[in-house]
Amino acid sequence: MARFEDLLRPTPEGLYCPPGGFYIDPVRPVERALITHGHADHARSGHSHVLATRRTLSIMALRYGEDFAGARQVADWGRAINVNGVTVSFHPAGHVLGSAQILVEWGGMRIVASGDYKRREDPTAEPFEPVPCDVFITEATFALPVFRHPDSRGEVRKLIASTKQFPERAHLVGAYALGKAQRVIRMVREEAYDAPIYIHGALKKLCDFYESEGIALGDLRPATIARGKSEEGAAKGEFAGAIVVGPPSAFADKWARRFPDPVACFASGWMRVRGRARQRGVELPLILSDHCDWDELIETIAEIAPQEVWVTHGREEALVRWCSLRGVRARPLHLVGYEDESE
Ligand SMILES: [Zn+2]
Repeated sequence: MARFEDLLRPTPEGLYCPPGGFYIDPVRPVERALITHGHADHARSGHSHVLATRRTLSIMALRYGEDFAGARQVADWGRAINVNGVTVSFHPAGHVLGSAQILVEWGGMRIVASGDYKRREDPTAEPFEPVPCDVFITEATFALPVFRHPDSRGEVRKLIASTKQFPERAHLVGAYALGKAQRVIRMVREEAYDAPIYIHGALKKLCDFYESEGIALGDLRPATIARGKSEEGAAKGEFAGAIVVGPPSAFADKWARRFPDPVACFASGWMRVRGRARQRGVELPLILSDHCDWDELIETIAEIAPQEVWVTHGREEALVRWCSLRGVRARPLHLVGYEDESE
């Protein structure tokens, strides 16, 4: 264990590589950061030097402004980059657009920090590639056998069926601004739904970015009510039976109240838990996750067959125990600052 820890170790700032002098997804500003993907708990602003995929760098610039880091360097998929004598390379993680696992090689050791990842199909993210390694560092957001995500297309079809069943009601879909929102929209389009989809202003920049990267999202319109019209009249006319997508935070504020008699939907892996859906007042839960479910986690570990598994955040205990029962050394890293709510 000590040998691997010479290469990568948990610190309060995040995973640190002493010989390379860099952190992976640090939670505080550092000199040199390698970033797996653009979600706010992994990609923070204020580092002196950032190495990430081109798409992740673009997403960081969109969210934080062009001056989000002192200097930036693009990691092309699979290309070996030397950082102070340590070789690093970025490989698709299938989590959101541009998301990467980072392979760190040094002294004959190979460690993969997978960031957040998923295995199932997502038309808006580069598919996960298994990378052989000695140590596989995994998240554990849904690492309990109770978490088994259903077929994603079936969930999207439920949404479309509901718009037909309730043609007079707007369908408000809560979805995280980076990744989930574009995935929902793209999957709705793949079901041959070509009516306009209305989006909250907070989604516009990221939807435009996905479009510019070749992910067609169809006719997107702002989910705003024209001035001068009575709110009720406009809403009935414009949003009846429509799909309206917004960030989960918007559902608590005034924005959501302009839609009369809306069907509250929420796209999240957490919708598997009935209590969570009820607590949020969700009428139509859509179980759509950008993280692995239990089966995907254990299948991935079995497929990669590393010597050791390190678990970063989430429900570590069950996964560590599963590994131990299979004779794979495993340990929780207890990293802090990564929220499984950004799902
Ligand atoms: Zn994430």
